[in-house]
Amino acid sequence: MNVYDSGRMADVLAPEGYVSTDAVDDADLVILNTCHIREKAAEKVYSELGRIRDAKADGTMIAVAGCVAQAEGDEIMRRAPYVDIVVGPQSYHRLPKLIAEANPTQKAGSRSRVIDTDFPAESKFDFLPAAETQGPSVFLTIQEGCDKFCAFCVVPYTRGAEFSRPVEAVLKEARQLVAAGAAEITLLGQNVNAYHGDDDGLAGLIRKLADIDGLERLRYTTSHPRDMNQDLIAVHGEVPELMPYLHLPIQSGSDAILARMNRKHGAAEYLKIIDALRLARPDIALSSDFIVGHPGETDADFEATMALIKTVEYAQAYSFKYSKRPGTPASDMDDQVPEQVMSDRLAALQGLLNEQQLAFNEGAVGVSVPVLFERRGKLANQIAGRSPYMQSVHVTCRDAEEADQYFGQTMPVRITGAFANSLAGTLDDGTTAETTQREPARA
Ligand code: SAH
Ligand code: SF4
Repeated sequence: MNVYDSGRMADVLAPEGYVSTDAVDDADLVILNTCHIREKAAEKVYSELGRIRDAKADGTMIAVAGCVAQAEGDEIMRRAPYVDIVVGPQSYHRLPKLIAEANPTQKAGSRSRVIDTDFPAESKFDFLPAAETQGPSVFLTIQEGCDKFCAFCVVPYTRGAEFSRPVEAVLKEARQLVAAGAAEITLLGQNVNAYHGDDDGLAGLIRKLADIDGLERLRYTTSHPRDMNQDLIAVHGEVPELMPYLHLPIQSGSDAILARMNRKHGAAEYLKIIDALRLARPDIALSSDFIVGHPGETDADFEATMALIKTVEYAQAYSFKYSKRPGTPASDMDDQVPEQVMSDRLAALQGLLNEQQLAFNEGAVGVSVPVLFERRGKLANQIAGRSPYMQSVHVTCRDAEEADQYFGQTMPVRITGAFANSLAGTLDDGTTAETTQREPARA
């Protein structure tokens, strides 16, 4: 979502004459967009700010945006006196006004320092200009915030209350993105499947989006198991544009820990959802998030997580050591797990997940899969994209010209090699760019 937000900040500043640059010393304004989900991400902000201060030209303004700005705005202003602007994730549509208030024409030191961490009554989406496309595969935020208050999580405090964008606004943005060249849209939300901007929820929205001409692929992330209703599961079997891949975090396989986390479901309910999804879409690839070492997690709780992973067999997953977040209920629990225990459990869990991921990737060797080419490779004759199952696929073309020709196209690729995090393959027909294959082969 921060990638999407950063793009929208660029959109909102474009009419003011700002263009993006990758070079800090070339910038009039540097915006550091930040994440507060784990301590490591939050701490990085201060070291990164120091680096920007050293690299920037005299007079360059620095703004800090995102969830660290929201949660620690005053502390940022205190610890980094050279920061000009602090802006939270729900008020960045006001950036032009904040920049004007900071008075950029003044020298650093005589400028005003501005902080805006409101949760405004108005929705920022009503004030943002049309989204510019970033390529063949793009993000679109449809839902933000969270009312679920899992014991470990800061999101409800930093992103605010759950909010869904109206279906018409989402369809309009999607049509603009497709008209500008996007073939794949990933719908975003902290609780994307709690979307209620359409009477039929996320399922209704997906059916409507699938009707847009030229939109080949749809994905959505991140979902909560409690909002995975029958209609949404059914859509996975009905809508060919909806890719056979779902990121559905469970966090832990232990009912006791799930209760401590306030997830409000057990492992059996989750497994039932997985069964129903596989009935609707037999080749669906699954992903999850796991937290090891949540307060109260015993060896037996951890083994329950390992057992669940063995039952599901994930195509990929993200896993983290529990990180204590200020103000969350879990941070006050008295049975915190020692660091070394967390490290050992994370290593064991990641070992198992890596094995499953490699096995999943190896299952694709010899198979032809449709790949949407969305990135350049390291060499001019290389292009990369994703399979329907979210695997990164790299292809070496005859020359740079051929690579250019296929950029943004969906082409059948015969998989020749499998690695832990990617696949290698060759174009199936080698010569034509016409094929848009929608029915994926089973990996
Ligand atoms: N809404 C999504 C998750 C959003 S946060 C859900 O409910 O699944 C993304 C991921 O960060 C979470 O799934 C969780 O695995 C991880 N995470 C959140 N808070 C954390 C914490 N305090 N320590 C470690 N990992 C955390
Ligand atoms: Fe955080 Fe997700 Fe729980 Fe909301 S549902 S509190 S975003 S982990």
